[in-house]
Amino acid sequence: MNLEDYIRNVPNFPIEGIQFKDVTTLCKVHSSFKESCDRLVNYFKDKGITKVCAVEARGYIWGGVLAYQLGAGFILIRKPGKLPAETISEIYELEYGTDTIEMHKDAIEKDERVLLFDDLLATGGTAKAACNLIEKAGGIVNGIAFVIELTGSLHGRDKLKGYNIVSLVKIPVEE
Ligand code: AMP
Repeated sequence: MNLEDYIRNVPNFPIEGIQFKDVTTLCKVHSSFKESCDRLVNYFKDKGITKVCAVEARGYIWGGVLAYQLGAGFILIRKPGKLPAETISEIYELEYGTDTIEMHKDAIEKDERVLLFDDLLATGGTAKAACNLIEKAGGIVNGIAFVIELTGSLHGRDKLKGYNIVSLVKIPVEE
């Protein structure tokens, strides 16, 4: 199955010049959603992962499935002010703008093996900030998984040097 066929490209969303990769068309079909989950689970099973962290909101679609299938706990990384207990935070740059992400301070035990999931890798700013959060909390980033990796001029992988990165679909960025 070619998962790329299930991803919808929406030009100029949310702003002019962005080619938005819409994963709702992939996860609304059971067979493509299942295939994407199974491929990620197969890659990360038997790696001793005890926590899966995912970035709000599309990251949660796969993150919960991965945690359940890998026998791990699930940790929410959220936008500021959403988590109720004490948090740690990181500022990061998006392909469009800047933002902050937060995680509960007590979400991860020291030296836990953590899988980070987000739906898409663009500049790598979000994933790098999430790795910083995980490491601040005492965790070890065992892998970073994406459904989509935008390749080319954004150089997302360069920002994540040294980490084990898995992406299911690689799409060249159109200039
Ligand atoms: P970045 O931090 O630049 O790697 O951006 C990754 C985050 O922004 C992910 O959470 C994506 O959901 C979102 N994102 C960035 N660029 C796009 C895009 N072209 N299409 C869909 N989502 C995007």
